[in-house]
This record gives sequence, structure tokens and C-alpha cells, in this order.
Amino acid sequence: MPSNAIEIRGLQKTYPGGRSGPAKDALKGVDLDIPAGSIFGLLGPNGAGKSTMINILAGLVIKSAGSVRIWGFDQDVNPRQSRAAIGVMPQELNLDPFFTPRAALEVQAGLYGVPKSRRRSDEILEMVGLTDKAEAYARTLSGGMRRRLLLAKALVHQPNVLVLDEPTAGVDIELRQMLWENIRRLNQKGMTIILTTHYLEEAEEMCDEIAIINQGSLVARDSTVNLLRQLDARCLLVVPETAPETLPDLGGLEVTRRDNGELAFSYRGSELTANAVLEAVRQAGIVIKDVRTEQANLEDVFLALTRSR
Ligand code: ADP
Ligand code: MG
Repeated sequence: MPSNAIEIRGLQKTYPGGRSGPAKDALKGVDLDIPAGSIFGLLGPNGAGKSTMINILAGLVIKSAGSVRIWGFDQDVNPRQSRAAIGVMPQELNLDPFFTPRAALEVQAGLYGVPKSRRRSDEILEMVGLTDKAEAYARTLSGGMRRRLLLAKALVHQPNVLVLDEPTAGVDIELRQMLWENIRRLNQKGMTIILTTHYLEEAEEMCDEIAIINQGSLVARDSTVNLLRQLDARCLLVVPETAPETLPDLGGLEVTRRDNGELAFSYRGSELTANAVLEAVRQAGIVIKDVRTEQANLEDVFLALTRSR
């Protein structure tokens, strides 16, 4: 096993301009090592460049500059080996509507040159809970079932590295739990997992290490524990007894008014306690009817970080 499952150096991607808009620098020179055996989170707000990076790893998007090694194989020098080492569950639900799940897996296995004797379609269908639907046409499958089939397709050639692009965006709780269970089990068997998400909570629960990408550049790379300690944005939501005409000025505390009338106070957990925030709110003459906290998502975190520096 190589020490790094993925080694990315100076990775750049510029999408050419055209009728749809000007040229876009989606990746601006990214260096990144992803340790073998980890569950690694690639986080960032929409448009950060996550899918671009993953699609380059998958060989679906051609990089503009830089190098990519997958399981020790340089993508440009050993394209076949590097491709065989990685399986990708894409963000888009792009499935051929005329294939049944079993046929889709067989075709995929054929594409990767998996010999008939080493195919495990039934086992994989069982694992993702599609046994009952093995012979159903893809166009009759629900969104959740299509996502399971995409995961199944990514696994047919038993890759060393499994990449999942926003696997849980818009999926129900049941499917989300199934996905996490599968991912944990595969990782325990030695598979390196890379996933993108824009939910911090999810990354916190699943990932050993995290990279954060914003506007095509890496802005952080650390263990999840260290990163969460750093990214300590907090939000306290207050329902006021009566809506104040103007928002209070509470020094370092950022205040916004939500559509539902709640006042959102953003602060850094390392600088203030919730109690201090509540005290400041009372001092400003606001009578608190109800209060709750909110887990910051990455977009909030980015805002908080750029505001306070
Ligand atoms: P993310 O997955 O983090 O949301 P993407 O990698 O999809 O980000 O997109 C990064 C940037 O590149 C965005 O500004 C997006 O609009 C742009 N982009 C993505 N794909 C294309 C494309 N095929 N052509 C032109 N621009 C693109
Ligand atoms: Mg994306």
C-alpha cells in the first residue's frame, strides 16, 4: 500500500469561455496528499471546485496543468493503472435509462476489464440494497435507488480508492444511513474513501482528515479534530418578544434578521460564550422569547472567518 492514495501537485483547471460565459479558473494550483486508508473529506461551498477536482481524478475532466498520482500511478504516465485504482460515484445522476441495475454493473465491469469469473454483481447489488430491483429499468428507479446504483457501479472493479461527490445531498435519512454504513464497512476493509460535502456536521462525523477548498484554492488541510477547533463559528438564534426596529450594535457580534423574524447572532466559540451573547442581547434591551443554537455550515464558517480577519 502506498502511504498516499492520492498525490496532487500544482493542479489547475481553466474552463474555456464560450457562449455560456467567460473562461473560469476552477482550480488555481492545488497541492494535496490524501493518506491511504483514510476517510477524507473535501469540503467547500458551491462552486469551490470540488467536482472539478474529483472529475479530474476520475478522468472525466482534463486538467489544464499539474500532476495527479493515484495509488502511486501518475495519471499521464500510467493512465490504465491509475484509472483501475479509483472508483467514482458522481454528483450527477447520469444513468442509461434502458439498463437494469444488473446490466449496468455488467457493462461497467466490461469497461474496466473485470473478467466474468471475478464479477460480483449480486453481492454488490445486495450491499446497496438493490437486489429486488436487479431487473428493473433504470428509468423506473427512484432518485435514491439511482444513487445506490451509482455507488454500485463505482465498486465493480474493486478500486483501492472510492470517491463520492456529494453522496448525501438531497437524500432521505434512510439512504443517508445506508450510505454511511457502506462507506464505513468499505473503509474498514481497507478502501480509501474521499467524499465531498458542504455539511460540516457530516464531515465531522465521518472524516479523519479534511481539506477545505474555496474559489479553486486550498484554504485548509488538517485532521478533523484540529480543523473543527479552528472553525469555531457559532450561531445563536433569538426569537424576540417584539421585533426591534433597528438591529442592535453589539461590537464584535454579527447580527442578521431572518425571514421568520429570528435574530441570528454569529460569533466565534473561542472568543465568546453563548451566555455572554445572551447577556449582550438582554443589555441591548431585547426581551428573549425563545432561543436556539444552530450548527454552522461551511458557508457560514467562511463568512465568519473572512469577517473577523
Ligand atoms: P463544486 O463542485 O465545488 O460546487 P465545481 O467544480 O462544480 O464546484 O465548479 C467550480 C467552478 O467551475 C464553478 O464556478 C463552476 O461554475 C465552474 N464550472 C464547472 N464546470 C464547468 C464547465 N463544464 N464549464 C464551465 N465552467 C464550469
Ligand atoms: Mg460539485
